[in-house]
Amino acid sequence: MSTPTTDKHAFKAEVKQLLDIVIHSLYTDKEIFIRELISNASDALEKLRHTQLTEKEIYDDTLSLEINVNTDDKAKTITFQDFGIGMTREELVQNLGTIAHSGTKAFLQAIESGQKPEGLIGQFGVGFYSAFMVAKSVKVFTHSWRNDAEHLIWTSDGSGNYEVETTDGQRRGCKIVIELKDDATEFCIESKVKNIIQRYSSFVNFPVNLNGEKLNTVQAIWTKNKSEITEEQYTEFYKYQASAYDEPMFRLHFNADAPIAINALVFVPGQNTERFGFGRIDPGVSLYCKQVLIDDKPEKLLPDWLRFLRGVIDSADLPLNISRETMQDSALVNKLGHVITKRVLKMLHDESGKNPELYEKFYKQFSAFIKEGVATDHTHREGLAKLLRYESSLTEAGKTTSLEDYVTRMKESQKDIYYLHALSRSAIETGPYLEAFKARGIEVLFVYEAIDEFVMSYLVNFKEKKIVAADQADLDLGETDKAPEGQSLSESEASDFTAWLRQSLGERVGKVETGKRLVESPVIALNNDKMATPAMRRMMKAMHQEQGHEPLVKMDLEINPRHKLIQKLNALRTANPEKAKVLAEQLADNAMLAAGLVEDPRVLVNRLHQILEFAAE
Ligand code: ADP
Ligand code: MG
Repeated sequence: MSTPTTDKHAFKAEVKQLLDIVIHSLYTDKEIFIRELISNASDALEKLRHTQLTEKEIYDDTLSLEINVNTDDKAKTITFQDFGIGMTREELVQNLGTIAHSGTKAFLQAIESGQKPEGLIGQFGVGFYSAFMVAKSVKVFTHSWRNDAEHLIWTSDGSGNYEVETTDGQRRGCKIVIELKDDATEFCIESKVKNIIQRYSSFVNFPVNLNGEKLNTVQAIWTKNKSEITEEQYTEFYKYQASAYDEPMFRLHFNADAPIAINALVFVPGQNTERFGFGRIDPGVSLYCKQVLIDDKPEKLLPDWLRFLRGVIDSADLPLNISRETMQDSALVNKLGHVITKRVLKMLHDESGKNPELYEKFYKQFSAFIKEGVATDHTHREGLAKLLRYESSLTEAGKTTSLEDYVTRMKESQKDIYYLHALSRSAIETGPYLEAFKARGIEVLFVYEAIDEFVMSYLVNFKEKKIVAADQADLDLGETDKAPEGQSLSESEASDFTAWLRQSLGERVGKVETGKRLVESPVIALNNDKMATPAMRRMMKAMHQEQGHEPLVKMDLEINPRHKLIQKLNALRTANPEKAKVLAEQLADNAMLAAGLVEDPRVLVNRLHQILEFAAE
């Protein structure tokens, strides 16, 4: 046995400053010292494991690689023991007497730049020194991995000095005994400590035992190879991590070393609870560094529209003590989020091909998020657009197509992608808008929800094809294959007629023209304001009408000079101008009705009564 010696040291100035802040400020996140000490223990075990690979002579080589936490509510202590690499005298002085750690330095810089320490500690963590938030004194008993290393005790009360003494009988690794302050005695209560360990350290790579009971029973399967994991383990992990009861629908398990180290395991849940009106889902992909939790609900890791995902993203490249504030500007965190988002999009796209029925189920539950993404996330818009599904004029009712498939069906002469919005398939099929496209064999997507119109207008393009509303005024659809049958008004008759119609309708409409679009219908209302989607127009209209103004958005009318009704109306306007004017009004209203833009149903109904009277004569 060596003669005990005591070495007195003063902390380096910056450590003193740090300890002063830690000890004298009010803080809310005291509990994070447990996370910090367990993660140090885990690091030390990891280092030992590494050393074992290259060194033959290791002190106490039969000890198992585990972490033991013990609480003692009589002595008011909490102890962290690991059988890891341990520290030599020089290492004690170097590692615990100075600040090497970048997170802690960043913490000090934040304080120096005038930020209040309250709350910052929990966000940064201050590594080993966080123990002094709760400690009257800290003792580190240690023996480094070498056989000939000293048995040492490092002691400090955090007040400026520390001592290193030689002692005897130490096992390999570190045992850190914390004598708790009077206002921190909750940390010698087993149940309290158990909760904290389970929250932060459930997936630490080595067994974590609290008073002899192993706490981390769920493995950090995201770090493993896919082939080592069974379906049941995946599901069990999902349920544990997401506190969920359903079965996950899809999962993405992804490991990479370069350009950044990522181990990610994320799930699409079986249910979208936002649909049931449970309110906005909190983001649920937790951020870890080497199996130690950094943030269980990071707001800025993934885009908002991916808030339905559950799971874990772990990167060994992240500093454990990255702050939640700096996380937002961290290039590394952005990169992580971007890589995972792209992977998730690809996974969903792949599944839609491999597993269309399951994908359809997914889409029913989660399409709102995809659409939200298209509207809000420019970076991933293209990938998101591939996930959209719509009915179309070529699908059966209830069946959908992707935009990619639509594009493959486009004719050579077709430049744009067309869509129509209405509340139902039958409303589109019986309305006047589809016929021009049908006559030319052009496919039209059917969109039924208001958000879909926004989605279409945000998309603008898909695969370099413009996305265009089929009720747009200035569409060049080309000639129809079959020339429409029957007589037509002559050109001069038609121009007189349109002039008369425009005059009769007054300020209600924009331009009135003849056109080639219509086959079966006499008239169609077209949108001449490209910026206004039909949904926007209806909204503007509603707002405007409430205020009792003229209609704000005017639609153009296109008439079909081959239609019997138009020809008869043309004759009537000289024979019976008054009657013709009533019919003209109704013609315009019918067009508006088909556009979903009826102005005042009472006016319309009264006029219909008048027309019925004519008919009954
Ligand atoms: P960090 O863990 O980020 O390096 P800490 O303040 O938590 O910063 O720890 C400082 C250093 O002290 C560690 O880098 C490590 O070298 C040493 N250390 C802390 N705890 C232990 C331990 N249980 N075993 C061995 N070395 C340790
Ligand atoms: Mg640490």
